[in-house]
Amino acid sequence: MVLEITQIGHPILRTSCREIAVGELASPEVQRFIDDLIETKRAANGAGIAAPQVGKPWRIFVVEVTNNPRYPYKPDAELTICVNPEIEFLTPERYLNYEGCLSIPDLRGQVPRCPHIRVRALDRHGNPFGRVVKGITAGTFQHEHDHLNGILFPDRADPRTFSTWNEFALRHEAAVAQSVRQIVDRWGE
Ligand code: ZN
Repeated sequence: MVLEITQIGHPILRTSCREIAVGELASPEVQRFIDDLIETKRAANGAGIAAPQVGKPWRIFVVEVTNNPRYPYKPDAELTICVNPEIEFLTPERYLNYEGCLSIPDLRGQVPRCPHIRVRALDRHGNPFGRVVKGITAGTFQHEHDHLNGILFPDRADPRTFSTWNEFALRHEAAVAQSVRQIVDRWGE
């Protein structure tokens, strides 16, 4: 089922979400919720989505990018479901990621992100996994992880970089696509 996406101003987007116990994760309610989260992300053409964006204060997010029309220059990323995730930065380097958010209509902005991270989480079956994520995809994971702590991308962005989606397409997209290609060449994602 496609769920309604909460919009900025809704207090749940400013909540620090709670962990999901393994037993609770196995429940039909949470399993159905994960299916709905994926379906909602796909219907909205998001690169990722986090549980508070559909009204649950739980530490769950998903990332998936395949020929995304909202971000045509983004490299593909396979479907990854992260429960109770933790992110470790593996380099002090940062790059500027031009972000948008399904919960913030018509706004984009540049956010410094770490291009080399390790994500540790449970999969939807409660099995722990660890994965190194790089480049642009690492930025997407950090954006979704921020949602679990009540942080939205404008909190981390330089407000002077804010742009509507239309102005972004007209004035910034070509340069951003170029810089994304450089990051992908360097980091492989
Ligand atoms: Zn978001």
